[in-house]
Amino acid sequence: MSVMGLVCRNCGADYPPEPLYTCFECFGPLEPRYEWDDIEISRETIARGPPSIWRYRQLLPVDGEVVDLGAGFTRFIHAKRLGNALGLRQLYLIDDSTNPTYSFKDRVVSVAVSKALEFGMTAVGCASTGNLAGSLAAHAAVANLPAYVFIPKGLEKGKLTQALVHGAHIIEVDGTYDDANRLATECAEERDDWGFVNINLRPYYAEGSKTLAYEAAERLGWTVPDQVVVPVASGALLCAIHRGFAELEQVGLVEEASVKFNAAQPEGFPVARAIKEHTKVEPIRSWSTLVHSLAIGNPADGTFAKKVVEQSGGYAEDPSDLEAIEAIKLLASTEGVFTELAGGITIAALKRLVDGGRIDEDEVVVAYLTGNGLKTPEALVPHLSEPIRIDGRIEEVEEVISCCA
Ligand SMILES: *Cc1c(COP(=O)(O)O)cnc(C)c1O
Ligand SMILES: [Zn+2]
Repeated sequence: MSVMGLVCRNCGADYPPEPLYTCFECFGPLEPRYEWDDIEISRETIARGPPSIWRYRQLLPVDGEVVDLGAGFTRFIHAKRLGNALGLRQLYLIDDSTNPTYSFKDRVVSVAVSKALEFGMTAVGCASTGNLAGSLAAHAAVANLPAYVFIPKGLEKGKLTQALVHGAHIIEVDGTYDDANRLATECAEERDDWGFVNINLRPYYAEGSKTLAYEAAERLGWTVPDQVVVPVASGALLCAIHRGFAELEQVGLVEEASVKFNAAQPEGFPVARAIKEHTKVEPIRSWSTLVHSLAIGNPADGTFAKKVVEQSGGYAEDPSDLEAIEAIKLLASTEGVFTELAGGITIAALKRLVDGGRIDEDEVVVAYLTGNGLKTPEALVPHLSEPIRIDGRIEEVEEVISCCA
């Protein structure tokens, strides 16, 4: 659908639909403005569309060709066994570990790289906590654009390998994600014909995540869940899912869209902390969590994410890494899904929300699993049992079996 312009989420100032991302008046973030009256969309046209985010094309900010590796419309699971373990009857999971590059980032990158081509940009870039790097590298390869990726020190090997294999230029900054992001932002300011997907293309990029709301509603027979649990790094994902549900109501695809939003962050991170302690979102500068994909100390959309959570009547939880690992094992052993640490944080937060009485057993709950466990196996290894090692004689096998029984 055509973007009519960009509008400041803070003060409402209007801008043309260009690669802009902050308001000149108040430094607020910009988001696309559409002509809602022109949108023709129905449940039937969506059902006839491709099994990807592009089935919702009329609600996404791209007009021309799209760079489509098949992101979205991932597995939607009625998680009866996990629900049973947690005390929920209607728990659903959206499993984005099955996206083309194994995280939800394919949804946002597919939109942003399509937009980069539409703007005639000559290269793409990003600052990444890991998953974005892999996704951008793959989409840039297909779009035939060079990719420049700024990452913090200490990323998981699997994520690094994934970005490198597609031919991206990886620049490792000796610091945190926030340091890498600052440098990428400076670089973006120097080069206006480069599209930094989560910087100067951010207003378009973030729109890709709205499809996580559309899919939940479509899979639930065009109704919305009572509550969602969303992992938060910068807060962009949570805010976009919120906009997604509101838009469904606006275009008449669902009758009403009141959904309680719950944020999941690693222990001590700013958004969850601010919600739990009723304070402002204050950046943090150092941490020790292994959950790198959610480790943003200065979340760009943190204040907006907090507002969405509070106004919806939801809450936040910030489980420890150990709780996340236990949750990964519980999910894997009940539903056959192996999620990465961010998914562990999400399920661990869900557990705390149920135990704390904030979610009732009969409510319809959707939890978002945003990445694949095979990307971060290192964190899990010390918490799993060792293989049973034998020389190779059948007697040994019999002995092992009788021990296991
Ligand atoms: C990027 C990411 C998120 C959410 O990031 P936001 O910055 O809040 O949009 C969640 N989970 C995973 C696995 C991610 O890679
Ligand atoms: Zn403004």
